[in-house]
Amino acid sequence: FLTLGIESSCDDTAVSILDGQRDVKADLISSQIKDHAPFGGVVPEFASRKHLEAILPLVDRALENAGVSDPAQELSLIGVTAGPGLMGSLLVGVMTAKALAQTWHLPILGVNHLEGHLFANVVASPDLEPPFICLIVSGGHTEIILAEDFGNYSLLGATRDDAAGEAYDKVAKLLGLGYPGGPIIDSLAHKGNSEAFSFPVPLRSSDEIAFSFSGLKTAVLWAVKDLKEKSVDLPIADLCASFQKAAVEALMTKVERAVEVTGIRKVAISGGVAANRGLRNALQRKKDWNVFIPPAIRCTDNGVMIAAAAYNGYKRGLISDLFLTPNPSWPLV
Ligand code: ATP
Ligand code: FE
Repeated sequence: FLTLGIESSCDDTAVSILDGQRDVKADLISSQIKDHAPFGGVVPEFASRKHLEAILPLVDRALENAGVSDPAQELSLIGVTAGPGLMGSLLVGVMTAKALAQTWHLPILGVNHLEGHLFANVVASPDLEPPFICLIVSGGHTEIILAEDFGNYSLLGATRDDAAGEAYDKVAKLLGLGYPGGPIIDSLAHKGNSEAFSFPVPLRSSDEIAFSFSGLKTAVLWAVKDLKEKSVDLPIADLCASFQKAAVEALMTKVERAVEVTGIRKVAISGGVAANRGLRNALQRKKDWNVFIPPAIRCTDNGVMIAAAAYNGYKRGLISDLFLTPNPSWPLV
């Protein structure tokens, strides 16, 4: 059962072919990072034009990599991200998927991008069975989901302001480190002293399952201003290490709270920030939990997670049609 997975919600065009639930036959990503880097963030109109250039050649290469010569006969399903994301970017993926489904007479299923992130864990771990807790921590989202079953999710808590990835990107920008900031801060953090600055851990003492990253970002801003006023060279690695320590602690504290509240010790993470070494290490230290961590390349946006969520949804009876339209603010729950 071959599923063609298409992802274009933000600045990566990704196409995959998955056999069944987790046998990856093709996994291609065309990244626009270099195109957007001079602007310090994703420029939506530019992103949709880049998707348009990339998507069909990527589908062709994916078919070639998977050894599919007759897609109408050999593919069984097309899964495509239908939201949340940038409208112009989503449209390119959804319109392409619909055109291919029409041409090849294949069923199509619109997938929620966040459910896609969650499914990165399913691809990586055959033994992950619901119920489990999943921390979705990405460029646009920071939330803790209770997966009672596949397709049956409830929201345990979310960020009140910035997403964790957004905080990483903004802090990197104010330190002049480039875009996207997460991976850069992550590697610098390992060269710095995490005790050099004591940044606040947002909502640490609250029982509520919620996140807030705007105060932490501002605390870094003030520390930088202070150092600049004193004409001191910025200790970049120390700032990164101290910021990362507070950010990881903010995430871990609330995952701990979610485990306490639900009594479920099966914990998965996903989304771009789940590639973070500090977060992965902190989670791996939880010896009395059953922890699921996808490989870093499956944490950031990819087509495999979308094909996996589509396959699972289709097997549960879900199906879209050619009226499928993107929903830029489609919530998972
Ligand atoms: P969303 O999934 O919420 O729609 P998105 O798809 O743009 O947002 P992802 O691709 O899932 O986001 O993740 C990108 C984010 O992850 C960026 O903010 C990036 O800085 C962050 N990120 C990537 N690698 C790391 C890392 N090693 N440490 C911290 N953050 C990271
Ligand atoms: Fe994402």
